[in-house]
Order: sequence, then structure tokens, then C-alpha cells
Amino acid sequence: MPIDFKQFVSNILDICFPTTCCNCGEIVESRGLCSECWKKIRWISEPKCKICGIPFEVGITDICVACMNKKPCFDQASAAFEYNDSSKNIILKFKHGDATYLCPQLAAWIYSASKDIIPDADLLIPVPVHFFKRLKRKYNQSELLARELEKLSGILYEPRILQKKKHTHRQEGLSKKTRLQNVRGSFCANEKYAHFLRGKNVVLIDDVLTTGATADECAKVLKKHGARKVTVLVVARVALDS
Ligand SMILES: [Zn+2]
Ligand SMILES: [Zn+2]
Repeated sequence: MPIDFKQFVSNILDICFPTTCCNCGEIVESRGLCSECWKKIRWISEPKCKICGIPFEVGITDICVACMNKKPCFDQASAAFEYNDSSKNIILKFKHGDATYLCPQLAAWIYSASKDIIPDADLLIPVPVHFFKRLKRKYNQSELLARELEKLSGILYEPRILQKKKHTHRQEGLSKKTRLQNVRGSFCANEKYAHFLRGKNVVLIDDVLTTGATADECAKVLKKHGARKVTVLVVARVALDS
């Protein structure tokens, strides 16, 4: 019987490096989550706000109160699942714990939550981090996600346009008002590449959408430099009851 060498190597790799659940680390058959963690994740589907993507318990209206009171600078936002006690471990491992091996799976989840957005997109732009933060964290998680999404979607990834010019405090735990003040004026476009934005349908990539302050500020800069439409894609977003 001929030995299938590729299969043999694959079996050895499976034994040495088994696939594990993104959340709890339990050994699983295929990439993703174990059945227990899958059940705990609140995947976002309809009904949700047509603009910011916040999920509704019941679909009485198309647009949430926050978007009705003040329409964001971005046109639409979409997330794979809710950011809550069950899912935040995955995000924090990826963002602050060097667990960059989670990126292909997280990008795949974003991709499946964006099937109506990606076909019309021209550019994938990651939310940038300040130079000092990047130096400290060694990577920008949004850049990794956008690069992975380029592979999945074939849409061009362009990290050079949007820049973080001001080092800001961490947004976690701040109120919506303080978050807005914190990020105001902290992003800019690199004049050398800003012309790429003219008339383009831009997709802004980030890991989490909380109040939308960062995404709003980025969208403002992108539109000021000619982007026709800005859609925000994230892995997780904070819901009303979180
Ligand atoms: Zn698990
Ligand atoms: Zn909304």
C-alpha cells in the first residue's frame, strides 16, 4: 500500500499541535469553538440597527435611538457577535495576549458577517494604533484582521492611508462622552496616499465596536478625503444590555 506522505505529516502535526477551541483551549475537531463555547456566544443576526448594527430584542424599528439622535459618520457597521463576558476572553487574548494565531478564525467570522458588504467594497483599511502603542504591543490587531480579510475577500488591504497621530488613553471603561473627547482629532490621513480614497467604498476594520467613537472619528477623516462610503466591520460589538 503506498504511503500518503502528506497525510502522514498532517497526522503527526495534528498529534503535536491539536486544534483547540479559540475560547477555552479544549481540543476540537476543526478550527473554531467547542460546542460549549459556541452555545455561549451571542451571534448577531436580524433584527439589528440598519446603521450601527446593534442587535434588537424585537424588530420594531430599523434604526436605534442613538443613531436616530445623531447619525454616525460611518454609513453602516456589522459585527460577528456580541462583546460580553463569554466572548471578551477571545478578544483580549488576541488583542493583548499575543494570541495572533486566532486571527484567521476571527477574520473568517467577520467575513461571514459581511457577505452583503464585501462585494461592493474597494478598500480594507485597519483602524491604526499610535506608533508607541504598536511598539509596546508589537502588532496592531486590526491590521492583522484586515490582512486576513484581504486573503478571504480579494479586496485590497491598505494600511498606509489612515494614521493615529495622537497617543490617547485606553478607551476601556470610559463613558461615551469621554471616549469621544479622547479620540477627537487623533486620526489623520497620510497626504501621500489619501487620493486613493476618492470615490471609494471603504471598509474600516477593527476588533471591537463599543460606543463607535473611534470608528466615527476614522470615518470622518476618510470621508473628508473623499471616501464615498465607510462601512465598519468588527469581530464583536457591545450590545445594549452589556
Ligand atoms: Zn471552548
Ligand atoms: Zn444604531
